[in-house]
Amino acid sequence: MNQSFSNEPEAHDPSIQALIALARPSRRIVAFTGAGISTESGIPDYRGPGGVWQTGQIPTISDFRTNPKTRRAYWDGRRSRYPELAAKEPNRGHLALTALQRAGRVGEIITQNIDGLHQKAGSDPATVIELHGSSHRVSCLACGRVWPAATIHDRLLAGEVEPDCEICGGMLRGATILFGESLPLDALRSATSAATTCDLMLVVGSSLVVNPAAKLPVLARGGGASLAIVNRTPTPLDGVADVVVRSDAGPTLSAVAEALGRGALAQPA
Ligand code: ZN
Repeated sequence: MNQSFSNEPEAHDPSIQALIALARPSRRIVAFTGAGISTESGIPDYRGPGGVWQTGQIPTISDFRTNPKTRRAYWDGRRSRYPELAAKEPNRGHLALTALQRAGRVGEIITQNIDGLHQKAGSDPATVIELHGSSHRVSCLACGRVWPAATIHDRLLAGEVEPDCEICGGMLRGATILFGESLPLDALRSATSAATTCDLMLVVGSSLVVNPAAKLPVLARGGGASLAIVNRTPTPLDGVADVVVRSDAGPTLSAVAEALGRGALAQPA
């Protein structure tokens, strides 16, 4: 992917230039990504029109535990939708963040996304903190054992309507948070630690309205870090950010990676 960004309008956008100037001296940048980084990959914002939160495909955890009909509908939905998600490819926003990691400029990537595209772009899974879990894993509600989603998908294709745990017989669930469920504690701890030790938090494609995730930039700010926000629409934290870029993630991050990375953008893993 030998794109030259100097000919793109983003290279001359004053807010992107301000972002590059802010990021250049930073020693420890942590990225915080939301749905906006994945829209270029064809994944709609799950809170937007037609998103799963509006069409009611995400059940509550108690409904999931107690209602066999809910579980069957859940697995039926996964069987029809998972292949489409698994086929999605990272876009230049993901690739630029991976390039910035490889250049030693970005440490952790905290994400609200469940699509696994940061890892697919080549980011070390150990550096990606998934606050809402991952669509690519399935776990047992009873014993906690985790499987690749593809393994369970094969069982669904083979005709199981409600797959159970091969170890303990417990209920399985996708390893993404269900409606009204708390964020996974270990991810939240890692994210808090990253937020409080960075010197620049780079928010990309998140409208920063869902707590407690949206509090992470506030934590970073409280710890003395700078704050940059790249998002198509205004966020509640724009007023306290050092730089706000009201633009798409892909071209913006590409311009930053070009300026701060070592030129070569990452290739997908
Ligand atoms: Zn189990």
